Amino acid sequence: MFDHSAFDAHESVHYFHDEPTGLKAIIAVHSTSLGPAAGGCRMWDYATSDEMMRDALRLSQGMSFKNAMADLPLGGGKAVIWGNSRTDKTPDLFRAFGRAIESLAGKYWTAEDVGLTPADLAYAREETRYVAGLDDGDAASGDPSPVTAEGVYRGIRAAIGTVFGSDDVSGRKVAVQGVGHVGADVVRKLRRDGAEVLIADIAKSQVEALADETGAVPVSVDEILFREVDVVSPNALGGIINRDSVPKLACKIVAGGANNQLMTPDVGEALKNRGILYAPDYVINGGGIINVAAEISGSYERSWVNAKLDRLVETLQEVFDRANAEGRATNLIADEMARARIATGRSK
Ligand code: NAD
Repeated sequence: MFDHSAFDAHESVHYFHDEPTGLKAIIAVHSTSLGPAAGGCRMWDYATSDEMMRDALRLSQGMSFKNAMADLPLGGGKAVIWGNSRTDKTPDLFRAFGRAIESLAGKYWTAEDVGLTPADLAYAREETRYVAGLDDGDAASGDPSPVTAEGVYRGIRAAIGTVFGSDDVSGRKVAVQGVGHVGADVVRKLRRDGAEVLIADIAKSQVEALADETGAVPVSVDEILFREVDVVSPNALGGIINRDSVPKLACKIVAGGANNQLMTPDVGEALKNRGILYAPDYVINGGGIINVAAEISGSYERSWVNAKLDRLVETLQEVFDRANAEGRATNLIADEMARARIATGRSK
């Protein structure tokens, strides 16, 4: 752990092996200074245990930053299970995973991530209460996507206000890449408030249905990032903002819900140099974790979620304002703010 290139002063890393079920898991706790470490569990068929460790270290640090910027009483952690999510899942595997979580006595809360479903989590929940993202139960928060989309929409407005002086979206042009759970809802809100919206998705039927419903205009997946628009909103994949794509962008703002949009941190600087305002992904897409945090708190209150969303947009605005005042890239400002918040928690 200490020598690993992805090590970032993580508090602890826990390895689990359960012979009867074949469970091989790592739970990485990046920080508990603001509260119990929270972050989803990913099941993936890693090529090596080093690759698995890298994912656990990297993703748990990301959750610390995301939770801190969403102003949640949570630290950052992540679990990874080594296996093929299509062929290797069993109820007992997830019960064993639940016992692994229980052994950490509340230091880590899990939820859904790539490869897992609420049904898998329900088996883990039989062994431990430190599971969120369930479909039922008193505090169940359900699908976080609508809350994520609301945060992304409000974040787009904040970015438009920063660049154009008014956050009115009517008549603004927005290109939305990916119209799945988050992207489709963002499109609906933009169209409701009068924006012109271009959409693209590899799932053609989703594009057609949303175009019919909202009047958004379909364009090809190869073109969507590069059309002349006010805002590009990535809501599909990571890594799409890179050295190849940045010179071809013809927008003033990049603001969307997709995780890990920048291929490397230095791409944030390239966006700034092109005069494009970037809304750091882990700030603008924090609505989902806010929703999960409401469940962790023990009683899901919609008013609490809304207040946290308001706070999230204020934080995003602070990132924009500081980046502007200091002439620096927004992703670097966000990282600094997140680290400062985590350090403040540590000193309390
Ligand atoms: P989703 O799977 O419902 O939607 C993603 C969509 O992107 C799909 O419709 C898919 O067909 C499309 N897509 C894939 N490759 C594409 C390509 N090359 N070009 C265009 N479209 C493509 O996922 P989602 O829940 O809407 O999440 C979208 C993004 O937001 C992901 O990066 C996710 O990690 C991130 N995110 C989601 C949430 C949430 O609450 N759902 C929270 C935080 C972050």
